[in-house]
Amino acid sequence: MGSRFDITVVANDSVEANEYIDLAVAEIQRIEKLISSWDPNSQTSEINKNAGIKPVKVDKELFNLIDRAIRISRLTEGAFDISYASMDRIWKFDGSMKTMPSEAEIKNSVSKVGYGNIILDKAQSTVFLKIPGMKIGFGAIGKGYAADKAKALLMEKGVAAGIINASGDMNTWGKKPDGTDWKVAITNPFDKSKAFALLPLKQGAVVTSGDYEKFVEFNGIRYAHIINPKTGYPATGIISATVFGPSAELCDALATSVFVMGIEVGLDLINQLPDMECVIIDEKGGIHTSQNITIDKS
Ligand code: ADP
Ligand code: MG
Repeated sequence: MGSRFDITVVANDSVEANEYIDLAVAEIQRIEKLISSWDPNSQTSEINKNAGIKPVKVDKELFNLIDRAIRISRLTEGAFDISYASMDRIWKFDGSMKTMPSEAEIKNSVSKVGYGNIILDKAQSTVFLKIPGMKIGFGAIGKGYAADKAKALLMEKGVAAGIINASGDMNTWGKKPDGTDWKVAITNPFDKSKAFALLPLKQGAVVTSGDYEKFVEFNGIRYAHIINPKTGYPATGIISATVFGPSAELCDALATSVFVMGIEVGLDLINQLPDMECVIIDEKGGIHTSQNITIDKS
């Protein structure tokens, strides 16, 4: 998935532990084969190749993932959208961009984006992208989904506790061997060598969206690398959004969504969802949290 996974299991010995880890790795590779948009032979690529042409029959697993992604789009009023992948890449966040794109270019860049044009047929298990050139991609949900599936598999095999860390998308279960909760440190986005908070993980998963280094500035406005799929404009105001909840998939999708929705709207959504919490760091270093979170700065 283009990212590093670290797998930790609590087991009786290292032989047993390695067997479990191999199972998790195989599961993650299996999912990658299904959802990768880089692999030309994946079912996801098949859907994309047939945009505007015909519906593609896919495994129930992929169908259901797309169905859940569309529900998250509805929940976030389009802030989250897997057809984000159809966007023209007019923004560069590597320092090479010198002038801001025109309003027309920005508007045009999202012309093929819109989850309303992903047509699902449950009975046939098919997916059809209505617009030629339209694409879907799981960049903002796939790592979380893989972490959920790897965790579920190991739990089913009887592993009492562990951590699946998909490049910072963390999913945990059970307790540490000493009986205490797993704790997660949130990196200070202004100084990566420092953790600015240590929080016990009671809900299982935690995912952070945001990269302090990836942004571009025009007329004093800092544009972050996550782009609003409805407007084509990059998100502003937020440096990192961390979401806690029972499933890494939902945390992953919502961390990206909160970025797009902004501090107020994002927290308002999280506060309405059961068992979900959120910590946002704004571009001035200010910390904003959802209702039931208290940060013990240490
Ligand atoms: P990270 O790569 O740090 O995990 P995200 O979880 O926010 O960050 O995912 C970023 C990726 O998700 C992007 O590379 C892009 O492929 C995709 N993406 C970005 N914005 C959206 C969006 N609004 N809706 C759906 N997918 C998105
Ligand atoms: Mg995400």
